[in-house]
Amino acid sequence: MILGRPAPPGHIAILHSDVEKANALARTFRGAGHRVTVIEKGRRVTQSVIEHPPDLLLASLSFSDPPLGGVIRGVRLALGMELPVLVVADVEDTGSLLEADDIIREPFDSGELDLRVATLLRAQAEKRTLQRKVQELLGLYKVSWAFSLAGGAEGLYGHLARQSAEILRAEKGLVLIFEPERRQMVAQTPGFGFEPAQVERLRYPVDGEARSRWNFRKNGPLVSNKAQADTRLLPRVGADLGLESVVIAPLVRGPQALGLILVANRPAAPFGEEDLNLLLAVAGQATVAVENLRLHEEIKRANIQLEEHDRVKSEFVAIVAHDFRKPLMAIRGFAELVLEEPDIPVEARQDFMRTVINETEHLALLANDTLLITRIETGEFEFRWREVDLGPFILDAVPLGLSDHSVLMDVPPGFPKIVADPDRLRQVLTNLTMNAVKYSPQGGSITVRCRERGSHHVVMEVVDHGLGIPLDQIGKLFQKFQRVRTEEHLRISGTGLGLYICRLIVEGHGGQIWVESELGNGSTFGFVLPLDASKAQAQRKALEAERAVKAIRDTSA
Ligand code: ADP
Repeated sequence: MILGRPAPPGHIAILHSDVEKANALARTFRGAGHRVTVIEKGRRVTQSVIEHPPDLLLASLSFSDPPLGGVIRGVRLALGMELPVLVVADVEDTGSLLEADDIIREPFDSGELDLRVATLLRAQAEKRTLQRKVQELLGLYKVSWAFSLAGGAEGLYGHLARQSAEILRAEKGLVLIFEPERRQMVAQTPGFGFEPAQVERLRYPVDGEARSRWNFRKNGPLVSNKAQADTRLLPRVGADLGLESVVIAPLVRGPQALGLILVANRPAAPFGEEDLNLLLAVAGQATVAVENLRLHEEIKRANIQLEEHDRVKSEFVAIVAHDFRKPLMAIRGFAELVLEEPDIPVEARQDFMRTVINETEHLALLANDTLLITRIETGEFEFRWREVDLGPFILDAVPLGLSDHSVLMDVPPGFPKIVADPDRLRQVLTNLTMNAVKYSPQGGSITVRCRERGSHHVVMEVVDHGLGIPLDQIGKLFQKFQRVRTEEHLRISGTGLGLYICRLIVEGHGGQIWVESELGNGSTFGFVLPLDASKAQAQRKALEAERAVKAIRDTSA
């Protein structure tokens, strides 16, 4: 007896002209752990082999119904693969068969037969493994190819879902991406093998119950062949998606989980270690693509923002240039007059020079406003916090000597001291009072009213009885360059920057500004400040820093 390595168990089909010999062989093979099918001669021989493809065909050379050569060619053609054939020849058989891989002549001992069968079955098993590997590699190659071609999120996630499912020969595939704000994995459309509605509404939380069942970042991937009865998964998700068996691999970048790839349902065979390794390989490649896509979308968003900033800046420059030109022309006109007309009476000359000074001041103000806006917007501006005794400060800050208008000060005694930037606070009070005067062209009273609100805030209001503001335009007033577009308002010159600056200053103090108004009946502009703006700002900065840290932490599901 010849000893060899034991044969891997396989499926052997026997075609023998002698039925008894066929059955004897079948018994021996079954005893060695193989599955055996004895094929009866006749019309259906080729069909029978094809219906249950064997790993090895054992045939007697004398098998002639139908002729053996034709059967082998037919089977190989139908199955599209190499089928090893071991031919058994009688001593008297003198012929040979081109299609055979090996031939064994009777009489042979069972050890020799075992050895030949084992060799052929092993070669066949190795060939099958190789073929599968080639298929998998081809699949992986297709995945990376798809990543580079994919256009946008839908393309990438769709390809990834389909390719992952195809590589694992499964029915369904899906990509979920981590959303840090809501701390959940969001299914990406399109999935593969899912109804669009199933995918659109699917969210998988990463905290709470889901986390206590399975933490994909810490515990890694998951294979389950009873998905709906698996305690590691949320049962309703398994039911909603109709999952039977699943392999889930996280898309990991360093300590963070960017998302998950889920492949599900393969009725032909349960998922195993090899499938998991394959999906992990796909996930490894996909992570780079998913991260690139995320960065790409971020850059796109930032670009849109930059373009918008650029547009607003250009608009700003155009308007400011226009606003500068007007007073400059006036200054130039009066200066020329004074220069070219030596006989102008002294009073007129003084008048002209006063106009020149006023216009120069106007220009300086405009330049300051422009600069201040830019510095606050870019975060370069530092408020200078001081203690401010509000009562006397307000009385001093509000310009009182305004023609045709009486300004009433309503400041309760013992109004508190606060911490604020006095120069900027003065700017807010002046802007609001000057506006109240400007936009009450018929004169009338203006009230500056101050109150404490609770024990941590103060409220200041400037009330006028002037033009008022139409309801549909009130919402935008605190934005840059917003001016009320009625004939009466536009007759009064202005830039639309004052209220925007007031908002930047008040918000820089940790406060809020608002307006209540009725067209034709006057307006009330009010703002609230915390008693200590420096603390409020420090708290805000700490909160912002905390948020930034949390955002980084949150990207780790
Ligand atoms: P400016 O007065 O230089 O145009 P502001 O930013 O101070 O710019 O004000 C923006 C717009 O809000 C003004 O153009 C005006 O139309 C409207 N507005 C401001 N204050 C009042 C007010 N008290 N009554 C009516 N309208 C006002």
